[in-house]
Amino acid sequence: MACVGSLSPCGAFAIRSARAESFATEGGHVGFIKCYVPAARAADADAATNDAMISEFDQVINTDPPLKLVQRAAKPEATVITVEGIDIGGPEIIVMAGPCAVESEEQLLSTARAVKAGGARILRGGAFKPRTSPYSFRGLKEEGLKLLAQARAETGLPVVTEVMDARHLDMVCSYTDILQVGSRNMQNYTLLEEVGKCRKPALLKRGMGATLEEYLQATEYVMKGGNDQVILCERGIRTFETSTRNTLDLNAVPMLKRHTHLPVIVDPSHGTGHRWMVPQLACAAVAAGADGLLIEVHCRPESALSDAPQSLAPPDFDRMMKTIRAVAAAVGRR
Ligand code: PEP
Ligand code: MN
Repeated sequence: MACVGSLSPCGAFAIRSARAESFATEGGHVGFIKCYVPAARAADADAATNDAMISEFDQVINTDPPLKLVQRAAKPEATVITVEGIDIGGPEIIVMAGPCAVESEEQLLSTARAVKAGGARILRGGAFKPRTSPYSFRGLKEEGLKLLAQARAETGLPVVTEVMDARHLDMVCSYTDILQVGSRNMQNYTLLEEVGKCRKPALLKRGMGATLEEYLQATEYVMKGGNDQVILCERGIRTFETSTRNTLDLNAVPMLKRHTHLPVIVDPSHGTGHRWMVPQLACAAVAAGADGLLIEVHCRPESALSDAPQSLAPPDFDRMMKTIRAVAAAVGRR
C-alpha cells in the first residue's frame, strides 16, 4: 500500500493521505516522507492494525495538522476515567443525570435523590448557565456550586458541572468532580488550555456547529496541557431540521469510539429538546456504543427555570433506566 507518512513525536507512525504530498509542498511542511507499508505483517499484527487505523483515520477524519494525543493510534487501549470509584469508559453504561440548572436546595436535593434511586451514578446540574438571552435565569453561580456539594455529601453521587469562564476555574474545581465545557465553549481555546492544566476529568461537549475534526482538535487542546482525562459528549448539531432542538448525530458515536481512545457519552436531552424523545434516543445511543448518557431530570419539569420541555420527571427517568439496562445487556454492556 503506497502512502505518505511522518514520525509523530509520540512515536506513532502517522500516515497521511496522498493529499499530504501536495499539502507538504503548498504549506511548506517538512518531514513528510513517501514510504511503503506492507498490507499485513505476520510478525507484527498489532502494528499492522495500528497502521491501518491511522490510515483510515486520515481518510475519514483527516485532521490537519494531525492529532498527536487524541487518536486511538496514539494509545490503542481504551481510556477509562475513574471518578470516586466509578469507571467511565468501562463495561458499565454510566448515567449522569440531574437538572439543567441548580435552582434551589429543595429542587436539587429532591432531584438528586430521585436520580440516585433510578440508578444514576453521577449528578449533573448547572451553576453557571450559558443562556441565549441575558434576561433568562443564568444560574446561582457559587451558591449553586455549594448546593451541588451538599447534594454530593448527602447522596454520595459525584458531581459534573459546567465551567464557562477560565476566571472561575479554581472555584468550580474546588466543588466539582468533573469539569464540563459546554457546546458554546468548545472552541474557546483559552478556556480549553486552562482546563488542560487542571488535573480533574473534563467532559467536553461537541460544539453545535462543529465537525468531528474540529471537535477532536479542540480535545487535543485539553490533552496537550497534560489533562488526559477527557470524556467526549455528542449533544446534537444544528441542521436544517426544525422539529427538534438539534439533530442528535449518533454517527459520531461509532466514529469517535473507533478513532479515539476516549470515553464517549451522549446527551439526548439537548440533542432532541423533547422529553418524550429522550428515552428512545438514549437507548439508541447505548446501542450505538456510547459509554454513558447525560440526562436532564427535574423534580417538577413543568416549572423548570431552564430547558423545561426536555427535562424528564423522575418516573419517566426510572422507566427509561430499566429499558437502558435491557439494551445495555443486549450489546454486552451493563
Ligand atoms: C448543559 O449540559 O447544561 C448545556 C448547557 O448543554 P450544551 O452545552 O450541550 O448546550
Ligand atoms: Mn440544559
